[in-house]
Order: sequence, then C-alpha cells, then structure tokens
Amino acid sequence: MNSGPAPISCRRCGRELVPGRGELFAVSIVAVADPYPPVFDERDLAQDVGAEIRRLVARLNGLDEQQARDQVYRRVVFHLCTACYAGWIEEPAAT
Ligand SMILES: [Zn+2]
Repeated sequence: MNSGPAPISCRRCGRELVPGRGELFAVSIVAVADPYPPVFDERDLAQDVGAEIRRLVARLNGLDEQQARDQVYRRVVFHLCTACYAGWIEEPAAT
C-alpha cells in the first residue's frame, strides 16, 4: 500500500511533480453562476412568475443534489509545472 502522498502531475504537459521543491503551482478555480442581482425587463414582469418558478423547480427536481450544486458553483484544483504555469497565467481562458 502506498502511504505517501498521491503523485502529482502537471495538468498540461503531464510531467510528474514533486511537492515541496518549488517546481509546481497549485491552481484553484472557483466558478459561480451569475452572482449579480437579477435584471428584469418589462417582458419578464409580464410573465406569470408562479409558472416560471414551477418550471425551475421541475427542472431542479430532475437533478440529483450534486448536479444541482454544480449548476451554481464549481471549484477545480489542479497543478501546473512552473514552465506551463508561466504561459497559462497570462491567458488562462485560452483553449
Ligand atoms: Zn507542465
């Protein structure tokens, strides 16, 4: 049985990384579904709000708890080697 820490590899290049040697970055990304107050226009206000709420509840009932949470909040942690990090941090949304 392996009692040491789980091996870490660079998410981009796959290089194996040794924690504690200053050769990696731990990257934590938090994504939150639109945290701003809702914006309504006149068309929204003209709708039957009750029907809209029932529609949303029905949609959420189709999901399990984890899926429902994932729709509003995700946290992802991964590791990058220093070389990959240097390029990634300049343009983190690049594909
Ligand atoms: Zn790398």
